[in-house]
Amino acid sequence: MVSLGLEDKVIVVTGGNRGIGAEIVKLLTELGAKVAYTDIKIDTAHSGALAIAADVTDLASMKAAAAQIAEKLGPVYGVVANAGITRDNFFTKLTAEDWDAVIDVNLKGVNHTIAPFIEGMYERGSGSIVCISSISGDRGNAGQTNYAATKAAVIGLVKSLARETARYGVRVNAIAPGFINTEMTKAIPEKVKEKIVAEIPCRRFGEPEDIAWAVAFLLSPVASNYISGEVLRVNGAHHT
Ligand code: NDP
Repeated sequence: MVSLGLEDKVIVVTGGNRGIGAEIVKLLTELGAKVAYTDIKIDTAHSGALAIAADVTDLASMKAAAAQIAEKLGPVYGVVANAGITRDNFFTKLTAEDWDAVIDVNLKGVNHTIAPFIEGMYERGSGSIVCISSISGDRGNAGQTNYAATKAAVIGLVKSLARETARYGVRVNAIAPGFINTEMTKAIPEKVKEKIVAEIPCRRFGEPEDIAWAVAFLLSPVASNYISGEVLRVNGAHHT
């Protein structure tokens, strides 16, 4: 019997309440991992997983979550920086608040998610970090200059951090999802959605499970042990 080797591994997922994060939590739990998930406010229970209220924009709150996870589940092997938000508008209409909110969650939030765990990974000589970027950061998207900037920045962070962590046995990768059916994409007007689907060679939006399996692969010390600093595009062939 082969396995992804995630059994009993402690893995933390941010933004696990709903959408892609919730599916990642469910799949990792089914694969036998000890999963902790965070969200600003916990309003969804996922069976078998530890839920902790923590805001990724607040480093102190993430450090407190890390302490609780270590106490309740043990040393952390995997971190999935998934929490993200959009504040879409055309460039001329974006406000300073739209920029700050998106940078705080999508970019600083990734730093705050990784920082409390990384030194422990170095000490133990193992770990895998997966950051959720976006097709928008990879190829750009009108109406998302603020969001795309943060998601492109995450790719730079991942590629640089992977170079720092490799000597400690810690891998760092990004996933760039295409358009996925969640609350986030529900906000896209139907007419715009139709145009996007026409551009996607698979002719449909992806599902949260499609991203969850890619996360499991990149976390796996068996399946992706020699992959680090990589961006895995999961987008139904919706490339540049
Ligand atoms: P959702 O909006 O459905 O879920 C995002 C989750 O993140 C929510 O549970 C939300 O909490 C949580 N969250 C938001 N802000 C914070 C915060 N400050 N601290 C902790 N948790 C927070 O989004 P998706 O599931 O669609 O997206 C997940 C990730 O995938 C994001 O990084 C997104 O940018 C990325 N992505 C999504 C794509 C898509 O098409 N859906 C495409 C490409 C990338 P709450 O419930 O309280 O709002």
